Amino acid sequence: MSVFSVIQSDSLPTARKLKDAKPRITDWWQQAWTNDNTQSTRFFAEANIALPGLTMNNTSTDDLFEALEMVRGFGLAVPPRSINPPSLTSNHIAGKAIDMTITWTGTINVKKKDGNEEALTFSTNANTNIALHKVGESFGVKKLKTDAPHWSFNGR
Ligand SMILES: [Zn+2]
Repeated sequence: MSVFSVIQSDSLPTARKLKDAKPRITDWWQQAWTNDNTQSTRFFAEANIALPGLTMNNTSTDDLFEALEMVRGFGLAVPPRSINPPSLTSNHIAGKAIDMTITWTGTINVKKKDGNEEALTFSTNANTNIALHKVGESFGVKKLKTDAPHWSFNGR
C-alpha cells in the first residue's frame, strides 16, 4: 500500500471521520516513516510534491494533515491522477470547468453533437482516451490531458 493511497482513492472519507482519525494517521506517519532519517526524507519529499500548499522543505506532519484535509474538502485530484497544483485562477473558479470520473465497460457507441457516433472503449486513463475527448469536444467540453478528472471550455 502506498503512503498516499488514502488520498488517491475516489471514495474520500468524510471531513468528520478524517478529523477523528488525525491522531491515528499522524502517529502512523511518525512510526512508519518519520522516525528513520532516510525514510523521513523520502516521505516528506513525496508528500510535499503530492499535496497542495506545502513547501519543498516541509517536515511538519500537522501541515501535511492540513493539506490532506484540503484535498478532501475540495475533492482535489493529486498525483498520479493530476500533475496540476490547485490554482486560484482555475477555470473552476469561473464555473467553466468540471472534474468528473467517467466509467463504463467494454466499448459503447456515443453520439457526438453532429449526430455521428464515436466508438468508445473504456480505458482507466481518461487522459489518453482520444475518442472520449472527441465526443466532449463536439459539445465544447475539452479535456485537460494532464489531469484525469478535469474538463473545461478551453481544455485548461
Ligand atoms: Zn479540475
